[in-house]
Amino acid sequence: MKYFGAQVVSDEETDVSASDEDTSWVSWFCNLQGNEFFCEVDEDYIQDEFNLSGLNQQVPYYDYALDLILDIESPHEEMLTEEQHELVESAAEMLYGLIHQRFILTSRGLSAMYDKFKSVDFGRCPRVLCGGAACLPVGQADVPRTSTVKIFCPKCEDIYYPRSKLQGNIDGAYFGTTFPHLFLMTYSHLRSGKQVAKYVPKVFGFKIHPSSQEVLSARRKEKKGERSKSSQKGAHKAPVGVKLDGGKPQITQGG
Ligand SMILES: [Zn+2]
Repeated sequence: MKYFGAQVVSDEETDVSASDEDTSWVSWFCNLQGNEFFCEVDEDYIQDEFNLSGLNQQVPYYDYALDLILDIESPHEEMLTEEQHELVESAAEMLYGLIHQRFILTSRGLSAMYDKFKSVDFGRCPRVLCGGAACLPVGQADVPRTSTVKIFCPKCEDIYYPRSKLQGNIDGAYFGTTFPHLFLMTYSHLRSGKQVAKYVPKVFGFKIHPSSQEVLSARRKEKKGERSKSSQKGAHKAPVGVKLDGGKPQITQGG
């Protein structure tokens, strides 16, 4: 590599490649930029076949992907083409995500996510009146490739897009629909029992009365009625085919 490359490569990237050999696939994957929402699934959890039941039918190249996640050098790996290697890598990501969805619902997984929640790894609620409440990741579906991950605010109990684009591209199924709610049932002290402040729209300092909408729409209807009456008479209406340009009428063809 030339100096150019060395200068461009950021600290983060060099860290990853330098420690590539001695760190496990799992911690390498969790430390990638954009993967901050993932916790590290325990190796013995992945090794227990019971925990992975059914996943071999959902993930292509399942055996290769599992070997990759567990840092096991597969004897047939060298037979794979470069294209197949890429497929195995994306399969490993999907397999890890689906294992992760299950792991974070176990007591060890919940506790790993608790540490991440405490260090605000999942971001804060973008809603001003939530005062920067720490959020939790959530999926809108448990089936992969349905929707991307969102963040759930325990204060306003609503979901939002994550701030980072990279995080926003992650499959929501890797977190699932249950996680934040089971998390808050487990750590119930994190739930804020307080009523959430609601934003109040004001005009010149006055609250807008609910009837104002009705008044405005009634007025709009009235005006519309007047306009249709006047157009029936044909007043103030340019004939078809005439365009007004700089005050001079221009006749266009047709009409
Ligand atoms: Zn909120």
